[in-house]
Order: sequence, then structure tokens, then C-alpha cells
Amino acid sequence: MKRHKTACCFTEKSLFTSVARKNTNTNKMKALICRTVRSMALAALLTACGSASAFYNPHVGRWINRDPIGEEGGNNLSAFLGNNAANHIDAFGKVKFEGCAGKEDQINGGFENFCKKLNDPAFNCCLNHFNIPGKLKWMCDNRDNLTVKCEADNTGSCKDACGWSLPGGQTIHLCPTQWNSAGCGDVGCTLLHEMTHMIGHPFEKWPQKVEKCLGCGGQ
Ligand SMILES: [Zn+2]
Repeated sequence: MKRHKTACCFTEKSLFTSVARKNTNTNKMKALICRTVRSMALAALLTACGSASAFYNPHVGRWINRDPIGEEGGNNLSAFLGNNAANHIDAFGKVKFEGCAGKEDQINGGFENFCKKLNDPAFNCCLNHFNIPGKLKWMCDNRDNLTVKCEADNTGSCKDACGWSLPGGQTIHLCPTQWNSAGCGDVGCTLLHEMTHMIGHPFEKWPQKVEKCLGCGGQ
């Protein structure tokens, strides 16, 4: 177990260095990753690295680790899903939202469904890029570093767009026109498209190929 833990942290650190070298939260994030792995080991739930979020132990009737988002989820660390757990899901306990009230479930579902596809050998084979799949997977597994912001409809950078983002940025801007829009498809397609820009591809070639290889259509 100890050897596995060390290897895991080393792997995360390497990915971290390549993806977010300039992130001032680097040390905090590394600490979080190692803390999370430790929590998982204690819970005997460590089956794969990097998939941790929060675990509830029904025997002791409480959460056995802190919400990965920590203080960034609001000052009230006891709050969960805006105290409206009956109407929302929090699949990973990680993403921060801005202006997306009522759309969180759909966005989390998009992450869940499309991040999973990155593990498919067929995706890697289709994309045929040496590091995009690994970098996207890292972002998927470390979404506590991301903000999803739902922008004003069809104005500014959202004019005729599904979403936008900047290389090196940590915010995925979603344009509300995407909901139910045939041109944008599933929100998961837009999320992964924007994440491809964020890992350093300013032009459309690779984001569009990522979408195509995820089965999002020929966008
Ligand atoms: Zn784009």
C-alpha cells in the first residue's frame, strides 16, 4: 500500500508540473492529492488513484474525509449542495460553478459521461496525440481547480458560440444557447472541447478532433 501511494503521488506531481506549472496553488493541490489518497487508503477504498472525492461511512454515520473543494465551496463547510441535496447531485464534489443555478446536474453529468470516455482505447487511437488524453484526464480528475461559468446568452464571446476558454485558463465559460442546441450537442462535448483549449491548444484543430473522437459528431 505504501509503495502504491508513493508512486501515485509521484505520477500526479509529474502531470501537475506539465499542466499547471504556474499555478500558485500547486503546493496546496499536491497536499490535497496526497491527503486524499491517505483518506482513501484508510477507508480501504483505494482501488485507483485520482478518483477520490468524499466518502460517507454509513457505519459511523459521517463523512470520513473533507469535501475536496474545502473553503472554496463556501465558508460553511457543513453545507452540501446549497442545502438542497434533494434536488441536486454532487457526483465529484469538485467543480465550482458561477451563474449556473439549476444547470449543475447537467454539467456534472457531462463531466461524468465524457471524462469516462477518455479511458477508452478507441478514443486514444482515434485522437492519436501523445499527451492530450493524459492532460484531459488530469483535468477531469482534478476539477477542484476548475470553475464553470455560465455566461449571458448570445452576447460578447458567447455570440453564436457553445462556450469559450483561454489556453492556461482555469474557467470554462459556457454559453446558455448550448442547452438543447443541435450545433453544440451534449454539454460534455463542450466541456472537453474547452478543456482542450485550456491545456494549450488555441486553435480549433485539436478541440474539434477531441469532440469527434468522443463521438460528439463532426464539429
Ligand atoms: Zn473552440
